[in-house]
Formats: sequence, structure tokens, C-alpha cells
Amino acid sequence: MSEKLTGFQLEQFKNLLHDRFYMVRSDLYKEILSIDKEYGSKIAETVYQAATAALAHLLAGLKRIDLNHYLNEIKDIEAAQTRITENQYGICQDCGYPIYFKRLLAFPTAKRCVACQRLYEKAKNE
Ligand SMILES: [Zn+2]
Repeated sequence: MSEKLTGFQLEQFKNLLHDRFYMVRSDLYKEILSIDKEYGSKIAETVYQAATAALAHLLAGLKRIDLNHYLNEIKDIEAAQTRITENQYGICQDCGYPIYFKRLLAFPTAKRCVACQRLYEKAKNE
């Protein structure tokens, strides 16, 4: 049985998610500039300074399928940060049991434990 996360571990995940957000945002910034210099430079500055929610909003407004993976990633990070502030981080949203620490380390935005994730993906693919 996995244990609930300690305050120290939560603090680690907070930093991890924070770093992850900066990484995704910087990749997105580079990609937007590479798509189209003129179009890109208009919004790149905004992208570079946007916080999580603002950036998700901006990206959703662009409606570009090729940038969707950034939007999903940013939404996942934002949701994980919300779970931390609401004291729900590391708890499986389907069964309510703690998610294994190792799984969270590998996948800090995980919403489900391994077993529930398998069921979820199985149901999705049927
Ligand atoms: Zn579960």
C-alpha cells in the first residue's frame, strides 16, 4: 500500500511542476516563433510571460491543432497544481487511494493510480 505524501514530498512536486511549466512554455515559445516569424513575434512575448491559466486561455484561443499537445500539457500541469492547493494531489481521482510515489515522480501530472489508468485507457479504446 502506498503512503500519503509528506509535506516535503509535496513541496518537491510543486517545484517539479513549476519547472515543467517553464520548460513547456519555453518550447512553445520557440515553436510559435518557428511557425511564422511575423505571427509568432506578435504573441511570443505574451507567451513568454504568461502564467499557467493565462497561457492555457491564450492557446485555446489560437485553435491550432499542431499546438494542442502544449495546451493539454499546460492544462494537466495547472490541474495538478490545483490538486496540490486543494490537498488532493497524489490521490487517484477514480478510486481515492494514494498514487505510488514512483509513478508521480515519473509522471507528476498523473490523475489516476496505475490500475485505474489501465481501466480508463481500456474503456477509452473500446
Ligand atoms: Zn485508482
